[in-house]
Amino acid sequence: TEKRWLQSEKLAAVGQLAAGVAHEIRNPLTAVKGFLDIIPTSKPEKQKEYAGIMTSELDRIANIVTEMLALAKPQIDDMRLVDVGAVLSQVTRFLDPEARMRNIVFESAFGELNVKIMGHENRLKQLLINLVRNAMDAIVSERRQVTFAAETRDSWVVIRIQDTGMGMTDDALHRICEPFFTTKEHGTGLGLHLCRQIVEQHEGRMQFASTLGEGTTVRLEFPAVSSLRVVPRSEVGEQRDKIG
Ligand code: ADP
Repeated sequence: TEKRWLQSEKLAAVGQLAAGVAHEIRNPLTAVKGFLDIIPTSKPEKQKEYAGIMTSELDRIANIVTEMLALAKPQIDDMRLVDVGAVLSQVTRFLDPEARMRNIVFESAFGELNVKIMGHENRLKQLLINLVRNAMDAIVSERRQVTFAAETRDSWVVIRIQDTGMGMTDDALHRICEPFFTTKEHGTGLGLHLCRQIVEQHEGRMQFASTLGEGTTVRLEFPAVSSLRVVPRSEVGEQRDKIG
C-alpha cells in the first residue's frame, strides 16, 4: 500500500543519515573521553572548566539523539483534521515566556483563523516551535522582533515567521535544510531537515527569504480542508439529480 511505501522511503532516508550521525556523535565523544583522561591529573580550577565542556558536548549528543528519534519515529498515528488557529495559539503561549526571557518582542497576528488542515498536531507544533526558535536564535542586535502570522489564501493556509535577525548569505540559504548544516556552537543542524520532512508529510511548502543583517522570513503553505457545510434537504435532491 501507499503507506508502506512511504514508510520504507523514510527508513532509507534515515539510513542515509546514519553515517552523518555516527560522525557527529564521535567528535563530541572523543572530546569527552580526552577530558576524562586528563581530569584526574589536572588542577582543580581546570577540572571545573573541563567538566563544563564535557557537559555541553554531552548535551549536544543528547540533542542529536532526540532529533534522530523524531526523524525515525514510525508513522503509526493517522492524520486528523487539525484546527490551525488552535495550534498557533498553543505554540504562541508555549514560546511567550522564552521570548520574554530573551528580551524579544514576539508578535502574533492571526486573529480568528477558522481553518483546518489534515495533519499530525504534534508534528505541526514541533515544526512551528523549531522555526520560531531559529528566528529567536538569529536575533543578535537591538532589533529584537519575531512576528508569527497566518492567513488563508484561496484554499491554502499561509503561515509566516519573520525575524529581525542576522539573516543569511545566499550560500547558507541553499544549505540550511541539509542535515548537520549549522552555524551555531551547540547546533545539531537537524532542525530544518526535520521541518522539511514534516512539511512534506503535510503536502505543504516551505520557503525562506533572507537578507544579511536584516532578517529572515519563512513562509509555510498547507492545503486547507474546506469547512464542512450542512446541506439542506432541498439541495440534496438537486445534487442527486445532477449526479444521476
Ligand atoms: P540548528 O538550529 O541546530 O543549527 P537548523 O537545521 O534548525 O539547525 O538550522 C540550520 C542553520 O540554518 C542554522 O545553524 C542557521 O545558520 C540557519 N538558520 C536557520 N534559521 C535561521 C534564521 N531564522 N535566521 C538566520 N539563520 C537561520
